[in-house]
Amino acid sequence: MILQTAVDTFLCGCSSEKPYSDCCAPIHQDLREATTAESLMRARYCAFTKGLIDFLYNSFHPTTRRFQQKAAIAQWASANKWMQLEVLRATETTVEFKAHYLNANGEVEIHHEKSTFKRTQGIWYYVDGRLLS
Ligand SMILES: [Zn+2]
Repeated sequence: MILQTAVDTFLCGCSSEKPYSDCCAPIHQDLREATTAESLMRARYCAFTKGLIDFLYNSFHPTTRRFQQKAAIAQWASANKWMQLEVLRATETTVEFKAHYLNANGEVEIHHEKSTFKRTQGIWYYVDGRLLS
């Protein structure tokens, strides 16, 4: 993956208000850089904004990754315009968030999810998520 230096100084796509280079970029380059479930969740949202499909696929836990299809992830990432991430609550292994986006018709939608994460051999992975209303 090629990261452009100029782009790295922009604010991170995960709404952290930190530069991308100090936030999700290191995690996008190496999953081991995610030291908490929340940092991985933020990096996954940011990956949706950037269309980093391999990262989204690879950050699934091995137990749930086999049910994923890169084409479906790519479709979901590109069909919507990702506007903002709100992390509502985070525990050691769960993150509840709202992802604000515009759907293909330009309508505002909110994806409200409680995600579960698991650390395996020192690496945090996304296991699955439950939609909340
Ligand atoms: Zn970030």
